This record gives sequence, C-alpha cells and structure tokens, in this order.
Amino acid sequence: KETHSDYCYTEEGHIKRLLKNQSRFAHKGHFGHALLLAGNYGKMGAAILASRACLKTGVGLLTTHIPRLGYLIIQTAVPEAMANIDRSDILISEFPDLDNYSAIGIGPGIGIKPNTQSALRELLESLNGKPIVLDADALNILAIDEELWELVPNNAILTPHPGEFDRLVGESYSSFERLQKALKFAKDMEVILVLKGAYTSVISSDGHCYFNSTGNYGMATAGSGDVLTGMLLSLLAQGYHPLDAARLGVYLHGLSADLLLNESAEASIIASDIISQIGAAFQ
Ligand code: AMP
Ligand code: MG
Repeated sequence: KETHSDYCYTEEGHIKRLLKNQSRFAHKGHFGHALLLAGNYGKMGAAILASRACLKTGVGLLTTHIPRLGYLIIQTAVPEAMANIDRSDILISEFPDLDNYSAIGIGPGIGIKPNTQSALRELLESLNGKPIVLDADALNILAIDEELWELVPNNAILTPHPGEFDRLVGESYSSFERLQKALKFAKDMEVILVLKGAYTSVISSDGHCYFNSTGNYGMATAGSGDVLTGMLLSLLAQGYHPLDAARLGVYLHGLSADLLLNESAEASIIASDIISQIGAAFQ
C-alpha cells in the first residue's frame, strides 16, 4: 500500500515561528526539569556532553542519573546538574521516581548489558505519558529486544544514526531505501524519527518529513549525537511539542556547528565546541 508523504526543507523562517516567547518574570520552574540517564564505565563523557547541552538549551533544572563511578565526574564536570546515583557501580540498573520530571532522555553511553536492558524496560513501563527521547544504546537495546517496541509511547523521539537505524529495521542499500523504511517505521511505531546525517530527516508518524538545512561534516565526530540528545531533552522538558522540539533542536544543533566554521575548519570541530555555540545559534 502506498504511503502518502509530505516533504519540507526546514529553514530559518520555519524555526523562528517555532520558538516560544518567554516572560520577563519567568523562573526556573517555567523551564522544566529534565531527567537524563546516561553513561557507564568508560563512557561518562557522553553523560557530560548531553548534560551540558541540555542546560545550554534552556532547561530550568537537570538531574542526571549515572552509575556510582560517575558521581564525582558529573558533579565536577557539570556543577549545574543534580546527580542521581544508581545502586550499580558501573552501569545504569534502575531509575528514579519519574513524578518530578517534565521529560526523560536515555541512551548516550549506557551500554547494552542485561541490567541496563531491564532498567530501560521498567522505565518505559513507568512513563505514564511523559515525553521521552531515546538515543544511542537505548536504540541498540530496542534492536536486541523487539518486545520493548510496544512500550515505546506515541510521539517518543528516536534519534538513530544510519547504523543504529539499520540495526533496528535491517540494512538498507541506499539512503533512499533507508528513508522509505524510516517513513514506514515512524508511521507503524507512531513515533518521531530523527534519522541523523547530512540533511537530517525529522519524520512524523503522519508521513511528514522535514529535511534539515544546517550542519556540516565537522559534526561527524565523537559525542556530536550526545549533544543533540541533550538539546532535544531540554526542549521537551520546556514543553515544546515533540515534533517542534525535534525540528528546532536539529536545526540549532547544526547551526551551532556551522557558526564554528567562522573560526575553525570542519576537521577541528569537537562535540564540546558545538555546545559552546548553542547560545549564538539561539540568537
Ligand atoms: P552520532 O553519530 O550519534 O554522534 O550523531 C552525529 C551527529 O552529527 C548527528 O546529529 C548528525 O546529523 C551529525 N552529522 C554527522 N555527519 C554529518 C554531515 N556530514 N553533515 C551534517 N551533519 C552530520
Ligand atoms: Mg550517537
């Protein structure tokens, strides 16, 4: 059966209309409280990058849930974040009570060990309609255990790079074939799929596909996707509709990297540099 799709190229004018106006009298409660679950032994950098990016995108409060070994690391590297500490020393095996949080992000650097798999299952079972962004190893866990798919709520944002997407739905032999599969996947799962790469596609479950206009190959660097996850989590926590959050976050992430080209070549861009330009990208 043929699927009807609409294609759009997201540019500055679209993005300006999506940005919320904020009150001069706003306090941190207005900007949400995000919960990020990230990191394991040897991958705490992913938790740091996603946490910093989340804060730099405007969230009011951030709690980062990390394995015990990450406690001093995150408290030192990201003093603005509150830390919630897992009972496990080396990986994520549980999660805090979700009532306090306006949005959840999970995946960067969490690994795919059985204890983390069960934590993700229980988290999905406890979501109760909370907005969520699933990235990286959270997607790799979904690829291992298809039974989890039915627990992924409508309008969840999933942010695979092509390798992660292929692990979910099987290999594609062209980017056109992958895009067709992505449209079907977003429709069947009723999620927002962010298929990353040059001209990242943001795909809604009703068949709309938004190609992003910002970004450069300097973003093909370690931790760049973790930065995007933090940004999307931040926008969800601030109450943006998941589709708007995805379009806005992807655009600002790419624009942040483009602004770096005023002073640097693509080769030198690292993920932390992208975070440093988020404020300028908003401006
Ligand atoms: P990840 O592989 O999870 O670290 O994510 C990589 C990030 O960099 C995604 O946001 C991609 O869209 C972006 N990216 C990678 N390669 C390119 C490229 N050639 N042009 C623009 N963006 C890119
Ligand atoms: Mg990634």
